[in-house]
Amino acid sequence: MPLYRTGMTLEIHVALLVVLAAIILISGLLIGRALVLRAHRSGDGGAGGTTASGAGPDSTGPDGAGSGPGQRTSSGEDGEPPRRDRAALVVNPTKAGADDARRLLLRLSREKGWEDPLVLETTVADPGEGQAREAVDQGATVVIAAGGDGTVRAVGGALVGTSVALGILPLGTGNLLARNLDVVLDRPEWALRTALSGQSALIDTGSLRVDPDGPARTFLVMAGIGFDAEVMGTVNEDLKDRVGWLAYAEAGSRKLLGHRVDVTVTTDDGEERQAKIRSIVAGNCGRLQGGVWLFPDAEIDDGLLDLLIVSPRNLAEWVGVLTSIIGKRVRRGLHTATLQGETFTIRASEGVEVQVDGDAYGTTDFLELAVEPASLYVMRPTPDIKRRIRREAFGLSTAGGPYLTI
Ligand SMILES: [Mg+2]
Repeated sequence: MPLYRTGMTLEIHVALLVVLAAIILISGLLIGRALVLRAHRSGDGGAGGTTASGAGPDSTGPDGAGSGPGQRTSSGEDGEPPRRDRAALVVNPTKAGADDARRLLLRLSREKGWEDPLVLETTVADPGEGQAREAVDQGATVVIAAGGDGTVRAVGGALVGTSVALGILPLGTGNLLARNLDVVLDRPEWALRTALSGQSALIDTGSLRVDPDGPARTFLVMAGIGFDAEVMGTVNEDLKDRVGWLAYAEAGSRKLLGHRVDVTVTTDDGEERQAKIRSIVAGNCGRLQGGVWLFPDAEIDDGLLDLLIVSPRNLAEWVGVLTSIIGKRVRRGLHTATLQGETFTIRASEGVEVQVDGDAYGTTDFLELAVEPASLYVMRPTPDIKRRIRREAFGLSTAGGPYLTI
């Protein structure tokens, strides 16, 4: 009898520990999906670019066989000198690594025989869209977003529908698009080499409206309403600077037990579904931190959005959601449902918070989500670049590969 009681006590303790761990993981993972940054706190800066045109060595550089974006090779007419390729860097100056990025890009551009890069800083008022448009106007071959997911979204949004490719130098917390494009996260030089000498690919983007007659806003990775958006809206920025994505876990634990909202989801074919939700997230691609795939079926170039509807009633059901996601069983998961389509319209019984690639975007009871197929050129690593990164990583360290995903 005493042994039996001891066993029961142990079981209860283990169960409590599991629930505690689950709370932390739920917050970190569910939330962590769009993890991003509203970190543009520095008020200065401005779109002052450097436009020096130093003459670099006319070499092909050590990047291997990448095709590179654009690659203007034609000489000008009427005896004009040939116009050389030029990268633009749209950089969030508040991020660690921003200064190194300028120096590295200058060196790599000269190695390739490109013009010296155009450098434009983001500001609180303009996190990247205006700078990216200016770069396009000035004839940039590729526009590199150097910052967190907010910078990447702003720059990418401005490049949608143009023939100018988006390069990414990940300097943020989530770096979700970089992860989904296999852009190396922890080696800035190789991320920049990928932007200059990788292969360009045409991907889908998403667009979102919170007013049927209002303007559309671009998202590159995911957008949604409910729990995750509430967390994005309340995450402590100072904590985020100190502990990264764990700050979202902290905010998540405060928001976990909110109430469910009645929604109607209308799909492409006009079919309506009713649900009581804690969260709905539309994904353009599926990879999150920690190797977790929130949308196991999502492809970034399939012309479809994946929709995840999350409906747990209580903590125990949240644990079910978590196990579904970790176990890659979201498709038939506990308290979750998934849909694929080109457009979704969501009407909610009350105002719910919205997040767009991790940025809080106000409150709405109406949300229209649509895929914009094949609308953005991006630079991805070539197999050769991947091999070189791997080789360099193994030469420097035997612990782990180059793709650190946490
Ligand atoms: Mg897709």
